[in-house]
Amino acid sequence: MQHLNMQNQFKLIINGQSCLGEAGELEIINPATAAIAAKCAQASIAQVNQAIEAAKQAFRSWQRSSHEERKSILNKIADGIEQHAETLAELIVLEQGKPLALAQMEVQGAIGWTRYTASLEMPVDIVEDSEQKRIERHYQPLGVVASITPWNWPLMIAVWHIMPALRAGNVVINKPSEFTPLATLKLCEIIQQEVPAGVISIVVGNGEIGEALSSHPDIAKVVFTGSTKTGQHIMSGAVKTLKHLTLELGGNDAGIVLPDADLDQIAKRIFNVAFLNAGQTCAALKRLYVHESQYDALAQKLADIANAQNVGDGMAAETTFGPVQNQLQYQKVKALIADALAQGAKALSGDQIVPEQGYFIAPTILTGLDESCRVVQEEQFGPVLPILKYRDIDDAIARANASEFGLGGSIWSSDLKAAQFYASQLQCGTAWVNTHAEIVPHAPFGGWKMSGVGAEFGMEGLLENTVGQTVHINKL
Ligand code: NAD
Repeated sequence: MQHLNMQNQFKLIINGQSCLGEAGELEIINPATAAIAAKCAQASIAQVNQAIEAAKQAFRSWQRSSHEERKSILNKIADGIEQHAETLAELIVLEQGKPLALAQMEVQGAIGWTRYTASLEMPVDIVEDSEQKRIERHYQPLGVVASITPWNWPLMIAVWHIMPALRAGNVVINKPSEFTPLATLKLCEIIQQEVPAGVISIVVGNGEIGEALSSHPDIAKVVFTGSTKTGQHIMSGAVKTLKHLTLELGGNDAGIVLPDADLDQIAKRIFNVAFLNAGQTCAALKRLYVHESQYDALAQKLADIANAQNVGDGMAAETTFGPVQNQLQYQKVKALIADALAQGAKALSGDQIVPEQGYFIAPTILTGLDESCRVVQEEQFGPVLPILKYRDIDDAIARANASEFGLGGSIWSSDLKAAQFYASQLQCGTAWVNTHAEIVPHAPFGGWKMSGVGAEFGMEGLLENTVGQTVHINKL
């Protein structure tokens, strides 16, 4: 850890001040060693309320800052992230576990997303412009936005929440996952350098702190990324004051390989999108349907790639595959694999020797199973991919859609027309052809069914941070 100074740096930010937590300190575990890596300030509910009060005050003037001012501030924040890129990447590896190269990609993504968000123009829609009348639709900021983030891509997802909210003229209070607050604390410190007191705050704590923040009557909007269960909880807490909500929740994305697919071309790509971040990615490919004519061949190719991974500490140069982020998730993924094997599934990979300490599971390819297994029905959110056989494409589509989730889905084929035809039949917010889990700042992303409400990114995502105001002007 060349760039990290672990002393005294993980404090909350409330009203522009860096402060200790009234609830003491939280121990942050390095998933590669299962040992304490750092301690970080833990907020009390009184501190959450202080942050909300300061944010309300800050909103009064921040909402009137010009678009040009806010664009310039976002670009300066991107410069700040760039300056601290190595520290941020190392913090991500330390708390989240992913290999350093992937953490560096996460930081680059955070910079790119911030600059893209800075570049967006807030629209004014002209609804009517006649001799007598002009009607315009403006988009105004909402107020105090609560951002609650998960542990899989801690820096990137905080950026996804915070930057569009600030760009639109809102003020933000973030609560990172209690498992991975360190990089987000550093991010908020960087943001604080550029904005007035109260425009950004960060309070660290568990679900109780998340609930105190997200259900508070003075919160105008909650943007949440995490599990469906917590999302439902947040939605019920939003009812009393009719908060705006963007909920990015769980998924169980299916990919379908058509019989004409070129396996040599797609195998590595499928592996990468299924096992991105050790499978701990909302829109990772989580169930793979392969035509019976290519089933064994593709499964073996994927197993060969899985068996070639170097599983280990994300800071080691040779590591290509990191640990699962926390013990609970580790136990859950292990249990899902054990359940499938007990039901007769076969593991074509996953028996590499992995470090004894830490939450390591080698990437596991499962064959010979169907929808009766939990690992197919549930979101595994970890390094295991079930491969399912199909004969008839309509049956494969029906099985792909038979899920309570609807985040993403993909079709893999050399025939782009056929692939697009079947992709349009997938019940999900993003349908990919010959790729999966590809998320870009200019394309809206959001889930159907139990995978979420609303969308992030692009103009649609920016406007979710606003409330529309129609202005009628009579020209007399
Ligand atoms: P989680 O729901 O357990 O926790 C997410 C955040 O919510 C944490 O900060 C947690 O402290 C907070 N929280 C917990 N209880 C709360 C409550 N009652 N009120 C308010 N906040 C509360 O999710 P996780 O385990 O951190 O993340 C994994 C899940 O996130 C997976 O299901 C994954 O699919 C999903 N996810 C979705 C997306 C997406 O864009 N759709 C992206 C990443 C992760």
